[in-house]
Amino acid sequence: MRVTARYVIIGAGIHGLSTAWHLARELRASGRGDGRDIVIIDKTGVGAGASGIACGVIRNNYFQPAMRELMAHSVSVWESDPAAFSYHPVGYLQISHEAMREDVASIHEQQRAIGYISTFVEGSEASRTYLRGIFADWRARRITSVLHEHRGGYANNLASLKGLRARTEAEGVRILAGVANKDFKRDASGAVTAVVTDRGPIPCEQVVVATGPWVRQQWDMLDLPAMTRVLGPDGEHHDAPTWTYWALQEGTLKVDPGYLVDNRGNMPPVVHVDTDEPLCDEDGVVTKGPWGLYYKPDFSFGGVQGGCVPDRVNRPAGDVAVDPYGPESSHFVVGEEFHRTFSAGLAFCQERFEGKAHLMSREPSGGIGCFTPDSFPVFDTFADNVYFIADSNHGYKMIGVGALVAQELMGQRQALLEPFRYSRYAEGRLHPVSNSPFPWS
Ligand SMILES: Cc1cc2nc3c(=O)[nH]c(=O)nc-3n(C[C@H](O)[C@H](O)[C@H](O)COP(=O)(O)OP(=O)(O)OC[C@H]3O[C@@H](n4cnc5c(N)ncnc54)[C@H](O)[C@@H]3O)c2cc1C
Repeated sequence: MRVTARYVIIGAGIHGLSTAWHLARELRASGRGDGRDIVIIDKTGVGAGASGIACGVIRNNYFQPAMRELMAHSVSVWESDPAAFSYHPVGYLQISHEAMREDVASIHEQQRAIGYISTFVEGSEASRTYLRGIFADWRARRITSVLHEHRGGYANNLASLKGLRARTEAEGVRILAGVANKDFKRDASGAVTAVVTDRGPIPCEQVVVATGPWVRQQWDMLDLPAMTRVLGPDGEHHDAPTWTYWALQEGTLKVDPGYLVDNRGNMPPVVHVDTDEPLCDEDGVVTKGPWGLYYKPDFSFGGVQGGCVPDRVNRPAGDVAVDPYGPESSHFVVGEEFHRTFSAGLAFCQERFEGKAHLMSREPSGGIGCFTPDSFPVFDTFADNVYFIADSNHGYKMIGVGALVAQELMGQRQALLEPFRYSRYAEGRLHPVSNSPFPWS
């Protein structure tokens, strides 16, 4: 294979495609080139990674101000063409127990400050009344706040990638499927001069790594550190593994998606519930501690689809890094425990799901996510000319990050990306930590 390109993007998921599309437009608009200067390689093909199996929830609900601002930017990209991106702007509900109320109240305040429209309801009676105004059969206990984001919702994973791919190829970008990055050629200064693939080297000026849960492979190829020095809030440094892996627990209750319409017969907002009320089913206690659940009716998954709190992967990270979605480390990760928690959680929230546990799909579902030391993204340049988009599994919703990265590749640093530089660990510029049981809230 004889290919050269000014820009080589490794990975054809949401970030690789979005970056290529936006970069091509920037090059064309500036007269400094066009999409023909860009090649995307993917060892399998478009959507073969996490983006192709993501639940697809798009929300702003983050306790960290920098994440909220970044998500607001991405939501506006989703809203720019809902049909092309298969985006459903149904909104999003964060329904919480008391320990999270203050955190969520501050999210609402800050959403107001950035003009992101949401409603905040406090108190158990007021929360119940609000939720029953949406679902007459709502019955979750120990809920003391509701944040209703009127923007956001969800998108269909492969359909949105198809839309992005069409836009990318229309700009003249080449997408090479079945081409795997194996190494890098570097000059004396350490900068990459060629992306080495199993089909030969691709000489280039700039590399973008957008390999999702495989990111550690490129990190290791560039001899970047396996451990990261972090200055903690206590003023002490400690070393944390740069990459850790969580198993995302998701699945589908096989009912007609129309089974979960709201009181008016419309598609409802995405529901996310966090509570500390013990979860039980007819066989006894399912889980005691704080637990969480998110769900939505989804025609693409063919039912009510969603997930629970993920599990830290119980294997040496090195094994997973070989190929997180390969045959030796299962692509699909959920088991009976998840099916029980998800179906019991649905019944905890809404009466219509009582006695429906037998309808849980046993088709393979879930997947592996790769997380950074603080579980927030790293967007930064290493080895002079290798830009890493390491989203720490926040990223299907972050369709706009590619637009910002494209601007940075054109030489314009982006304020929205500054809080996500790798140097934040050593300098102790960490993002605030919330009381959510999820590692990504
Ligand atoms: C089950 C699950 C549910 C999720 N739900 C949501 C959600 O609801 N909302 C949300 O915002 N996020 C969600 N996420 C997270 C989100 O899917 C990821 O953060 C995001 O899709 C990562 O996108 P990416 O483009 O970086 O990587 P990916 O989509 O994983 O793409 C990486 C690509 O790189 C290719 N590749 C890997 N190694 C090489 C190599 N050596 N050479 C060439 N190509 C290579 C792969 O084949 C793959 O196509 C979920 C994740 C999982 C696993």
